[in-house]
Amino acid sequence: MRNYVGGEWQGTAGEWLEDANPATGELTGLVPLSGAGDVDAAVGAARGAQPGWRAVAPQRRARAVMALREALWANRDEIARLITEDMGKTFEDARGEVLRGIESTEAAGAIPHLLKGEGLEGVAAGVDVDLVRQPVGVVGAITPFNFPAMIPLWFLPFAIACGNTFVLKPSERDPRPSERIFELIDGIEEIPAGVCNLVHGAHDAVNGLLDHPDVDAISFVGQASTARYVAERSAATGKRCQALGGAKNSLVVMPDADLETTVPAIMGSAFGAAGQRCLAGSVAVLVGDPERQDEVREALVAAARSLRVGPGADAETDVCPLVGPDARERIADALGRAGPEVEIVLDGRDEDPGPAATILGPTIVEASDPESEVAREELFGPLLTLVRADDLDDALAFANGSRYGNAGSIFTSSGDAARRYRYGVEAGMIGVNIGVAAPVAWFPFSGWKDSLEGDLHANGRDAVEFYTRKKVVTSRWS
Ligand code: NAD
Repeated sequence: MRNYVGGEWQGTAGEWLEDANPATGELTGLVPLSGAGDVDAAVGAARGAQPGWRAVAPQRRARAVMALREALWANRDEIARLITEDMGKTFEDARGEVLRGIESTEAAGAIPHLLKGEGLEGVAAGVDVDLVRQPVGVVGAITPFNFPAMIPLWFLPFAIACGNTFVLKPSERDPRPSERIFELIDGIEEIPAGVCNLVHGAHDAVNGLLDHPDVDAISFVGQASTARYVAERSAATGKRCQALGGAKNSLVVMPDADLETTVPAIMGSAFGAAGQRCLAGSVAVLVGDPERQDEVREALVAAARSLRVGPGADAETDVCPLVGPDARERIADALGRAGPEVEIVLDGRDEDPGPAATILGPTIVEASDPESEVAREELFGPLLTLVRADDLDDALAFANGSRYGNAGSIFTSSGDAARRYRYGVEAGMIGVNIGVAAPVAWFPFSGWKDSLEGDLHANGRDAVEFYTRKKVVTSRWS
């Protein structure tokens, strides 16, 4: 793979990392491990292009973003296939991811509207006040492995539509979808050279962006510990930063939930993409008397047993491989460490790990200690932990005891319970009778607490707020 800097594809002098297909272990590419010098070249190109790009009329910048939308649409299945090959998720899931990324270009296409300022006439005799929004300058984006197309597309369309130039450092684990998106950008004449730049690599490339004095803003998504690190290091050089971190989302199953729809929704939430989603429901909180709790537990275990485990390229697959053997080991180790307070109800370690040692079958455990590792730590795999709660207050106390606050859902047929949950739960994105409550691109996407460093979310109006600076003009002409 190559970096894309100032409209040119470039090699690097550094080392390379092997990128493998998680389903087969086959080598899919070599990822250049760019260093500070490579980042400096990309930031230099972005800085050089920014004044000219800012001067392009907002409606023409919108047209550029819509040209990207058309290119993505025309190539959506090819990008989805690259996601399946590189990251492992099923082709249908990957198609959904690309469509979500395309929606961000559609939302950013409304930029002339979104950028409009506000004004107030006559604050003193002959004095008017106007607020205008101007771009922040050069934006750096650092993205995770689990949505290798959608997450770069949360940031790039809004950032450039606002008049900024952009440098992406995609996950080193599966950068091929990003590289393909940049090949499409290379063919779009409305996007001049230097506006969008791509730098492959790992920690050195990230640090190069965070420390660079010419980068004005950082958009980050990844683990909570990395998000904290990115936020602190960005602050050291005075950058604005939005850093979206990890999650441990609870799904509350009320006694009046309709199990026919609730159980499949929980299956999709916990085991879709092998649990490698920041919106995955990883703890089911069973509310009610013990008999009802047992009924729900049995229904969940029966449904999980019937899921088909296999490669993402196979149309029959429900549960895909994990991104790498290290991810499988991490979850298997956590299961191995679990004490007597954790009952392993369905053990995915029994499944054949496959040619790349990346397969873990759907796993269900029940934790009698709500503070156990499986109930509180993000393990990012096909692992669903069950905990029991007497009533909704108990369930909320468990959900709100998490250090994370990304997402959560309630399953119920009671409007009152849904309202009490919506009012009281400490999370940024919640679902009512929905397993994966992913906001569409016209709304902000992010969580609370340790799931977000910073305060502005991705997408929607928050994106415009993050990628612009406000200037207030007070004038007197008479
Ligand atoms: P990660 O934190 O390991 O990596 C994310 C990015 O940071 C990568 O580009 C990587 O190169 C870089 N990075 C990692 N460690 C670094 C370090 N020490 N120094 C400098 N750079 C570093 O995350 P991941 O494993 O790729 O992604 C999965 C995580 O992302 C999960 O925790 C998941 O919950 C989270 N996530 C959150 C959201 C959200 O909206 N909040 C969305 C998707 C994923």
